[in-house]
Amino acid sequence: MAGGVAGPAALRPLLETVLTALAAGAERRGGPLAAGDPKALAAEVGHAVHAPQASLATLTELLAHGAADPADPACAAHLHCPPLAVAVAADLAAGALNSSLDSWDQAPAATVLETELLAELAALVGYQPQQAAGVLTSGGTESNLLGLLLARDRALRTPHSRPELDGVDLARRPRIYASRAAHFSVQRAAALLGLGERAVVPVAVDADQRLDPAALAAALAAGERDGETPVAVVATAGTTDTGAVDPLRRCAQLAAAHGSWLHVDAAYGGGALLSDRLAPLLDGLALADSVALDWHKFGWQPVAAGVFLVREAESYASLARRAAYLNPLDDEQAGYPSLLGRSLRTTRRADAFKLLVTLRTLGRAGLGALVDRCRELALAAAELVRARPELELHREPLLTTVLFRARPPAGAPAGRLDADRAGPDRCETDGLVSDRFNAELRRRLLAEGRAVLGRTELPAPVPGVTPGSVRLKLTLLNPHTTEADLARLLDTVVATARELGRA
Ligand SMILES: *Cc1c(COP(=O)(O)O)cnc(C)c1O
Repeated sequence: MAGGVAGPAALRPLLETVLTALAAGAERRGGPLAAGDPKALAAEVGHAVHAPQASLATLTELLAHGAADPADPACAAHLHCPPLAVAVAADLAAGALNSSLDSWDQAPAATVLETELLAELAALVGYQPQQAAGVLTSGGTESNLLGLLLARDRALRTPHSRPELDGVDLARRPRIYASRAAHFSVQRAAALLGLGERAVVPVAVDADQRLDPAALAAALAAGERDGETPVAVVATAGTTDTGAVDPLRRCAQLAAAHGSWLHVDAAYGGGALLSDRLAPLLDGLALADSVALDWHKFGWQPVAAGVFLVREAESYASLARRAAYLNPLDDEQAGYPSLLGRSLRTTRRADAFKLLVTLRTLGRAGLGALVDRCRELALAAAELVRARPELELHREPLLTTVLFRARPPAGAPAGRLDADRAGPDRCETDGLVSDRFNAELRRRLLAEGRAVLGRTELPAPVPGVTPGSVRLKLTLLNPHTTEADLARLLDTVVATARELGRA
């Protein structure tokens, strides 16, 4: 067992095994990911898993060899950060002790630590820590669900009926307003909450993918005219694809004017709160009724380190639960606190611990320096893209994502699948050629183990540029990456694009 006085002695040699295997696996990989296609990897893993000598050592080496490692500068596709060593070490302690936050008697110190951390994060967001409340979550998906659950329970309750008890009265025509660039988990949450995905009203965005406040005002006014119930406005602080930040203050005003909850999804942009330079981008965040933050994205924590916060602890009323075996009333009256009513989950690991240790080790300033460095790298990457005629930059980065594409060489084919979609329109064909070329380019980089780039599609055509919506994406979250690494990475992209063009 890992716990108890004897636990560490049992763990130590195993840790040595794990660390040795991690190093060997990374060395064998020799890059951001192992070369080969999914079939080749599946065969290798299948073989190793069933080998008679399969063990902690061989399987850990396999896991490392077959990983896409965000600590490599050429692994920059997603909001997938390299975790800090100190955070991983702290997480080991949380794992060894196996505290569970659903009752005080499974996690005495961890219960207090989580509460302390949440008060600190509430202050960071601009809430009054004494009034706010929250919980650690599995991530933005769970935080968005929790925010919309509490919003639903507030918006749809009547003197005679409560949605958490009686279900949703769809005659009230509940609606959630979110921009077209908002995360898909908003629709998922609407489905889970019994509102249906179609309850989410898509609000137009501007050329920078920011929610258009005039469109939100019009949508809310139309809903009011039609007798709909505004459950929540969801604003995004840092969209997944481009890092766009919605106009939070304006969203808060409009939500308030219509009696609606405002939930801000800051799963990505929340990291900006750590930097004096970038925090002003999130102006108005404190006006939100609830906020989602994800420290396993722009916060260098191992998964999972999601945080959900509400401005007023009373908003949690509909989630309160009394379970005789976890939080009996007399225990609570005797001074034993319970976090059971804060979470959708019951058993819950001490994810707050690694984050608290990180904050104490680096401080907000230390983390802010990492945030600023990643943003600097994004600006440098944009410059490097601009300097390469084979590449085309989408837009100047706001946070740490850089969208661009490779220009296909003249005469590249539109491809079999796309030929069906291509109309007689020359422009459309050019767009399909570009889309297909960039999609293939990214797959080739993956298959050859050279780079892990993101790929996305712009929701609307950009005026004044060649059509085609597929873009490659760098999500720069590794503060140890250098400008030289970025130049090398973009040279690799250009060289691979040339090879692909010749093929
Ligand atoms: C990543 C992301 C989510 C989902 O968060 P998970 O931690 O993956 O559950 C939600 N919203 C935004 C804006 C995101 O970038």
